[in-house]
Amino acid sequence: MSFPPSVDKLARSIEHHDLPWPILVEVAQEAIATDQVDDIEVLATKRYRQLLNPVLNGTGVLLHTNMGRAPLALNQTASFSNLEIDVETGQRGSRQKTIGNLLATACGAEAAMAVNNCASALMLALGALANGQKVAVSRGELVEIGGGFRVPDVMRQSGAELIEVGTTNRTRLRDYQKAVDGDAAALALKVHQSNYSIVGFTEEVSIRELSSLDIPVIADIGSGLLDSTCPWLPNIKPPAWLENEPAARQTLEAGADLVLFSGDKLFGGPQAGILAGSAELIAACAAHPLARATRPGSLVLHALQTTTLSYLNRDGQAIEFWRMATIDPQTIQQRATAVVGSLRAGNPDSQIEVISTESVPGGGTLPTVTIPSVGVKISGDLSRELRAQPTPLIARVVDNATIVDLRTIHPDADQQLIASLSAALSQSVS
Ligand SMILES: *Cc1c(COP(=O)(O)O)cnc(C)c1O
Repeated sequence: MSFPPSVDKLARSIEHHDLPWPILVEVAQEAIATDQVDDIEVLATKRYRQLLNPVLNGTGVLLHTNMGRAPLALNQTASFSNLEIDVETGQRGSRQKTIGNLLATACGAEAAMAVNNCASALMLALGALANGQKVAVSRGELVEIGGGFRVPDVMRQSGAELIEVGTTNRTRLRDYQKAVDGDAAALALKVHQSNYSIVGFTEEVSIRELSSLDIPVIADIGSGLLDSTCPWLPNIKPPAWLENEPAARQTLEAGADLVLFSGDKLFGGPQAGILAGSAELIAACAAHPLARATRPGSLVLHALQTTTLSYLNRDGQAIEFWRMATIDPQTIQQRATAVVGSLRAGNPDSQIEVISTESVPGGGTLPTVTIPSVGVKISGDLSRELRAQPTPLIARVVDNATIVDLRTIHPDADQQLIASLSAALSQSVS
């Protein structure tokens, strides 16, 4: 009878994988427990590939929640920063002050602050401004945002009492007025229907109408479009697909007292939540204990600052999301033609072609919108082989054909794309 190999010996046999010793030990234990000692190389590789790493997004979904929504620069050298020190005076400063000012200017607001995501922005705003009070929300806007995050639950957690107004498809100003007069609602919350749309016999109350009520109005616009005129795209008309999408600046101009949005949706920055609006309400939010529990760290604030400065410089091309979103299809067509030419040369037996396709904004935004794009289509399902490449490539499979939309792949990665597709093609035939 043979003894099981020692954990130590097995772990040492996979030391060439770039993983720390305690993880190698875990892999060895797993191999023994699951009777996969012979496949320990596979297990170690699998474990290494679970680490956070860049991937190529060939899906055409610009904000892919499973790939981190907006693309983000990943490398930074270690350094201290003036996160909470005023370099003029040497005194302790506020991490919210500079980013708050930049965001306020970008949104046309009196004041702003940043938290970890839009969910925490909503939680904080309700906790700080409506604890123990009644908040009027339209029945058409009692949404689940995703991952089980539901507006009525958030409301309960924040200590606010939900007053439902109107009906699922139609809500009028007088419904809100009744909540103010009859139920003493202290706040009105309007939630953008980001990830669904109600069509047909519908009616909703605009922010402008809501602002005629005698109570503060908070707008959760979620998707984070900063300004519907897109001044950061100086030579490009605002994309048609943005029509009807609420924007922070215009929502505030229309009379909202506070607007909330995500940092990593149409804003194109890191995961963050932004609150912008009246100085008094922002101060109340900043003073609430939840502000500390939801405050971003310097990595996020740095990335948020970089993104906001690009907006203020009207340099949309420096924001990767906007660069991708606004490339014209002809440019993508040229790249696709080059990629296909190169692949065909090495794979004369495969069916490889340039196709018109449609990208989508994604990230739980603009559910009905598509953006014309161009892709590479290869017959057969190569998705597994493509995911297995050194830099995994995530592609779409439609009718047993693999489609890679080039809009969501950076042009600098085209050679890498060709290499990955070639490798996947040869692996799929072998
Ligand atoms: C996406 C979204 C949220 C949640 O934003 P996170 O930044 O993911 O927390 C909240 N409200 C609306 C309307 C949204 O669209």
